[in-house]
Amino acid sequence: MKILVIGAGPAGLMAAYAARKNGAEVIVYEKMERVLRKFLITGKGRCNLTNAAPIDQFIENTMGNPNFLYSAFYTFTNEQVMEFFREQGVALKVERGNRVFPESDKSQTLADALLKACIDSGIKVRTRTPIQSLWIEEGKIRGAEDQKGNRIPADRVILATGGKSYPATGSTGDGYHMAKAADHTIVHPLPALVAFKTDDSWNPELAGLSLKNVSLITKAKKKKEYFGDLLFTHDGISGPVVLTAGRNLIQEGVVRENGEFKGVSFWIDLKPALSKEKLDRRILRDFEAFHLKQLKTVMKEMLPQALIPIVIEKSGLDPEIAVHQIDKKQREALVETLKALPIQGRGLKGFKEAIITVGGISVKEVDPSTMASKKVDGLYIAGEVLDVDALTGGFNLQIAFSTGYLAGLSASEK
Ligand SMILES: Cc1cc2nc3c(=O)[nH]c(=O)nc-3n(C[C@H](O)[C@H](O)[C@H](O)COP(=O)(O)OP(=O)(O)OC[C@H]3O[C@@H](n4cnc5c(N)ncnc54)[C@H](O)[C@@H]3O)c2cc1C
Repeated sequence: MKILVIGAGPAGLMAAYAARKNGAEVIVYEKMERVLRKFLITGKGRCNLTNAAPIDQFIENTMGNPNFLYSAFYTFTNEQVMEFFREQGVALKVERGNRVFPESDKSQTLADALLKACIDSGIKVRTRTPIQSLWIEEGKIRGAEDQKGNRIPADRVILATGGKSYPATGSTGDGYHMAKAADHTIVHPLPALVAFKTDDSWNPELAGLSLKNVSLITKAKKKKEYFGDLLFTHDGISGPVVLTAGRNLIQEGVVRENGEFKGVSFWIDLKPALSKEKLDRRILRDFEAFHLKQLKTVMKEMLPQALIPIVIEKSGLDPEIAVHQIDKKQREALVETLKALPIQGRGLKGFKEAIITVGGISVKEVDPSTMASKKVDGLYIAGEVLDVDALTGGFNLQIAFSTGYLAGLSASEK
């Protein structure tokens, strides 16, 4: 049984490993000069390879087609991923939120281990060899064709070319074209787990400012609130709350095909731990303690410097007013702004800096128990090229490992 794997990312290499273990002859084609380019930059170069939570939480954290992933998650679990790397001699550790990292804090340690396991088991890996198209005859896979037009024969092919995000790493959406040519449906790909572009004139002044424990409020059909850390960039906002909110907005169907938001309002609650009443009492205490001081000075007790002029202006107050002159109505306006600072969110930033791609090859045309294409006999599909994705926390790499392993195992069955 000869198996050709297209793409040497985590899904492709894990597929190759599983197929080889099952006795197949395996060759992996990778278009870049090196394998695992994206994998190396994951988790800011530390690689959050999986999560130590029970499998049902993987389903909960999966946003795109969680039910499709049941078999894959249970066939090759997070425990098995950890065991695989430990068997290769890599020590692992669990951090906040059950996130699993290598003890070395270097993704390179894991990349070296995965590649070595593949090479040692007899898998051939050809880099700098982009695959152009699938070779299909009468609905059956015959192999694939490289860019020079050379036909590479194979009994089974595993397509694991990744999505469209961070194209500099090699994931440029090639798999979508190959699958489409093979009669597969492609769910429109969108960049996700990515920063927002905003239209606020004050953004450049706030660039680099990081807010801890705030909440981002979104209102499309319903109001939703995301609690955590938020970062201002020169042209927008980023940070964990923004990434999660953006993915949920795609789910709500309020992101256009070009990534722009349709009919969504945004606010930041700068004091989510305090109700309006408690916040008002807190402000009153500050005003009484510093009653002769100017508002812009007293606000330093409550906000980072860069935000003070913006909050005061949005509240319609004079920054130089002595706080003892501020009446109840003005104080209420201040509370309103602190609890809901309006932000002009325009849309998701692009694929260039997106962590994942939402959309891809429709899972309706793939058998969830084998990862086999329902359109082409002998074609298997794994990883981010499929219309599956999850939130941050190591869940996306687990999807790549689990679907890759299952595809490799099934493709190598006689
Ligand atoms: C900055 C960043 C940080 C991330 N951090 C994390 C994290 O900490 N934890 C986590 O779980 N997830 C993280 N992710 C997401 C994770 O990296 C992906 O979900 C995962 O890499 C998908 O694996 P894959 O094998 O399906 O695709 P990829 O990793 O994209 O691999 C696909 C491979 O196919 C190759 N290829 C493409 N087209 C062709 C072709 N025509 N011929 C031959 N080869 C081809 C590509 O060059 C590439 O090597 C992060 C992503 C980014 C961008």
